[in-house]
Amino acid sequence: MSINLDVYVSPYKPIAASIPFWDSSKQATFPASSASLFTGENEAVLIDALLTTAEASRLCEWIRAKNKELTTIYITHGHGDHFFGLNTILDAFPDAKAVTLSEIVPFCEQQVSAAALAQWNASFPNQFAEHPIVPEAMQGAAIDLEGHEIRPIVVGQSDTAPSSVVHARDIDAVAGGDVAYNGIHCWLAFTDHEKREKWLAALDIIDSLKPKLLVAGHKDPNARDDDPQSILNATRTYIRDFDKAVSESATPQELVDTMMRSHRELGNPYTLWVAADAVKDQLGRRTVSA
Ligand SMILES: [Zn+2]
Repeated sequence: MSINLDVYVSPYKPIAASIPFWDSSKQATFPASSASLFTGENEAVLIDALLTTAEASRLCEWIRAKNKELTTIYITHGHGDHFFGLNTILDAFPDAKAVTLSEIVPFCEQQVSAAALAQWNASFPNQFAEHPIVPEAMQGAAIDLEGHEIRPIVVGQSDTAPSSVVHARDIDAVAGGDVAYNGIHCWLAFTDHEKREKWLAALDIIDSLKPKLLVAGHKDPNARDDDPQSILNATRTYIRDFDKAVSESATPQELVDTMMRSHRELGNPYTLWVAADAVKDQLGRRTVSA
């Protein structure tokens, strides 16, 4: 008996814009997010838990319709948009265990500090659990799904570090956390040149697994998961273009303009405005040769 991978995508969420050079006549949004469900004959393993109570409730209904026993929820990295939905999911599936790798647990704990929660609440007031549940350190190196291995792999840097992806070798599938982005702007706000180089190396780790399916943690709802090479290459191009534009731009607006010339078709443009504002101290610093 083989296993399957189903993907739930929660759409773009409206948020209040706080970036001064964002065109305030346009609605700012938070990236569309995915949750991946590996299913066997009877059991299921969920990768990532979304953010708001409303979207996590919709995810629970979707899982319930599969008629499987949810045994495990694995969290790919310590960002609230991937695990604040756990309270809702564990309410609905009290026998499931929420886990992550032991090295990721402290970063989840940091996300539920008063300061970090205040930041999340500024964007999503009263929209997620007051005291988000933090996943526990998982026992063993892989999650068993009816004899099939669901294996987390630490890849280092993505939009945060440490980040992991999840590999289901038996079906050549990877749930890519926030390492690969699909049809949507990459969250580069927390990076500098060195981190962007490390992020590129993390993409190479996914590439080395040679997946046939790659589910990006943030993807346009219409983007396909069955062309991993295109997803990886598009993410590489975006990160390299951003890195070059940072070194060649004098202002955040110039960085945005340069990036939008070649990446206008991507979803959630507000991500780029946030990144451009966040890296403003890095602008024009490095001379790029060739
Ligand atoms: Zn994320």
